[in-house]
Amino acid sequence: MTSPPAEPHRVVIVGAGFGGLEAAFGLAGAPVRITLIDRRNHHLFQPLLYQVATASLATSEIAWPIRYLLRDRPDVTTLFANVNGVDAAAKRVLLDDGDAVAYDTLILATGARHAYFGHDEWEPFAPGLKTLEDATTLRRRILVAFERAERETDPERRAALLTFVIIGAGPTGVEMAGTIADLAKDTLPPDFRNIDTRKARVVLIEAGPRVLAGFPDDLSAYAHASLESIGVEVVLDKPVTECTADGVVFGGNRLEAKTIVWAAGVRASRAAEWLGAPADRAHRVQVLPDMTIPGHPDIFAVGDTTTIADPHGKPVPGIAPAAKQEGRYVAALIKARLSGGTLPPFRYKHAGSLAQIGKRKAVIDFGWLKLRGNLAWWIWGIAHIYFLIGLRHRLSVALSWLWIHARDQRAARLITQGSSKVTQ
Ligand SMILES: Cc1cc2nc3c(=O)[nH]c(=O)nc-3n(C[C@H](O)[C@H](O)[C@H](O)COP(=O)(O)OP(=O)(O)OC[C@H]3O[C@@H](n4cnc5c(N)ncnc54)[C@H](O)[C@@H]3O)c2cc1C
Repeated sequence: MTSPPAEPHRVVIVGAGFGGLEAAFGLAGAPVRITLIDRRNHHLFQPLLYQVATASLATSEIAWPIRYLLRDRPDVTTLFANVNGVDAAAKRVLLDDGDAVAYDTLILATGARHAYFGHDEWEPFAPGLKTLEDATTLRRRILVAFERAERETDPERRAALLTFVIIGAGPTGVEMAGTIADLAKDTLPPDFRNIDTRKARVVLIEAGPRVLAGFPDDLSAYAHASLESIGVEVVLDKPVTECTADGVVFGGNRLEAKTIVWAAGVRASRAAEWLGAPADRAHRVQVLPDMTIPGHPDIFAVGDTTTIADPHGKPVPGIAPAAKQEGRYVAALIKARLSGGTLPPFRYKHAGSLAQIGKRKAVIDFGWLKLRGNLAWWIWGIAHIYFLIGLRHRLSVALSWLWIHARDQRAARLITQGSSKVTQ
């Protein structure tokens, strides 16, 4: 009598961001059946989100339907669903509509969102940037501010409409500030009749002592000077203590501003909470050296929702290459386990840090080599185009950038989600 064929090992991956997708790619050819669950139907290239928010790129240039990316993988089933818990005892992932998905091995790759340091009431006035919806909301606010300023006759109200505050001077804050300044100074001036968009104020406020704190001092100083050279006002050592619909308060001063962007602080997904796992202050799961969750050898967590030390004892940064390396490692470890082996602990390799400052400048820290200025900007651009998926997206983004570079035109200046009656 022949026994029925063994059921393939069931791997469930929650999250099709950089970490989850890389794990799915890495498991190609393994004797497993994969279910990939995401509450969005697209994989998003977050490093270029700020370019959607500033009308430089269209949403479809930085996102891909997850099903499309895995269309050649019959071993992967994609589910469009929101996970809201894990029943580790029954080995099931719980969905918010009451359904459940069984697993033998689970990979949590659910990322992070922005955090308001205990001031969630600020979010409506100072939206952050994490999803395509966030980016189009910000794009709308920025463009509507210029439109309303064009019709505003009161000088104070007009000044508030033309003041853009960015809170947090990490890479996202610096990139947003530089690009809004470019938009106001280079792209928009010929289009308006009643206002001079070059007079718009872009104010970057940072609680710490320097911009791009993760970069070496000299690159940080260069970024600061470059921002000022394109008209960005940089305020350091001043935590924001209030955000309202009319502006911000920092260092005891009130600044009237109708557009505020939040680029400070992140909070991990609820993965740690789902499992009662140890977590740091940003709610990141403290995973073991093999990326499993303590007490759960069959549950891995990767990417921004985790914290783990690099070989020098420093926390692995919350960046795309780290999430990809972790996803790749976990896939290799699952394969090794299925053939009765194992792997040494995960070791993070840092390739470098990059940030753009306005249209033609960037800073790059490879550790062994530091670059700044125009050359760094070209390398930044080529690296980002290289990491996009597919020839069509690469060509489209390259063309959009060349157009901005040569003509200062930003094709994605569309106000969507409402008519002129909708206020900010
Ligand atoms: C504005 C911005 C700029 C950035 N710039 C850079 C940069 O220049 N360079 C760089 O290297 N990194 C950058 N990063 C960081 C980088 O994008 C992250 O480190 C990376 O996306 C982390 O990958 P991840 O897989 O952990 O999470 P994500 O890529 O965030 O993916 C998480 C996925 O999980 C899904 N998900 C979450 N919760 C659930 C749930 N409950 N149920 C179902 N699905 C769920 C989400 O929809 C998402 O698809 C930037 C991030 C942002 C926000």
